[in-house]
Amino acid sequence: MFEDRNIPKTSLAQLGEFALIDHLTQTFELKNKSSKLGIGDDAAVINHEKQQTVISTDLLIEGIHFDLSYMPLKHLGYKAVMVNLSDLYAMNAHPTQITVSIAVSNRFTLEALEALYEGLALACKNYTVDLVGGDTTSSTSGLILSITAIGEVSKNKLTRRRGAQINDLLVVSGDLGAAYTGLQVLEREKAVFKANPNAQPDLSPYSYSVGRQLKPEARKDVIELLDELKIVPTAMIDISDGLSSEVLHLAKASAVGFHLFEEKIPIDPEVSFISEEFKINPTTAALNGGEDYELLFTIAQSDYEKIKNHPLLSVIGHVVEKKAGCQLITGLRQQIELTAQGWQSFKDQ
Ligand code: ADP
Ligand code: MG
Repeated sequence: MFEDRNIPKTSLAQLGEFALIDHLTQTFELKNKSSKLGIGDDAAVINHEKQQTVISTDLLIEGIHFDLSYMPLKHLGYKAVMVNLSDLYAMNAHPTQITVSIAVSNRFTLEALEALYEGLALACKNYTVDLVGGDTTSSTSGLILSITAIGEVSKNKLTRRRGAQINDLLVVSGDLGAAYTGLQVLEREKAVFKANPNAQPDLSPYSYSVGRQLKPEARKDVIELLDELKIVPTAMIDISDGLSSEVLHLAKASAVGFHLFEEKIPIDPEVSFISEEFKINPTTAALNGGEDYELLFTIAQSDYEKIKNHPLLSVIGHVVEKKAGCQLITGLRQQIELTAQGWQSFKDQ
């Protein structure tokens, strides 16, 4: 619905694969010392010297992971990188390189791929990450995008999902639920647009949420803050599928339980207002919505003084024994067992 109808359309068939790769990647420069060789040979070369190398891959399929009717390609490129960098930050690692593989059908034009690569380039620039390779091929329908992020971490800072100890504090960065309420708004506007293509959506009352859905940022700032504060979390995960399912992952990997306090979950006022409009519970948006790309981690109680009152961080609960399970404690002090109702790839549609 946000497609610009005035841009020229150059068919990919006019270029050929090599010219296309050259064209799309010519402006990328290597910025990290660890990037020894980038695009143009049979393989890239990376040297993290004394640091450990951390790798994560994601595969994004049009129609399953993204909808181009409201996701501009530039945003898709940016978000696809964020999703991957977020996984590296969740290991307390620093991303240094990415590779990008794409499969495109002939429905896509050169200008469309240029927009996608603009988003990739902006993400690389903002996070000082180098594009060092990829692969390009055709698909029979739609766009497939796979990104691999590579990063580094010293052995003593590496943070896994396992490691949470009883009495540790559960901390989350930023606020939760907005990416989900943003998606609700975009889905509604898509339906309105289908019924009346001349309707111009006014998204301004929803700008925070829509921004969180279309242009998320990975929490590099949180990793840097933890470093400054000399905190190494005992366990960490990023919030891609919703708070509930991520808490359950930490619990399982660390063989512990959690008490999570509903009133402590950080929720932006706009999320509350949109939730009212859509007749959903904002806590449900935070627990089950997903795509917030915030960091969820546990720290020793002795680190509490260092983070208390920090605007970026909220203590939302603590670690309990495994047999106590994972409980949401409501404002009325009711205990509700957490379940993973977050988005799941294979759940029945
Ligand atoms: P090969 O046939 O050996 O796989 P390619 O011709 O596919 O080599 O790729 C040539 C170079 O361009 C390699 O360095 C590869 O990593 C890079 N490359 C190919 N496709 C992309 C892409 N979509 N984005 C970034 N780099 C790419
Ligand atoms: Mg190739």
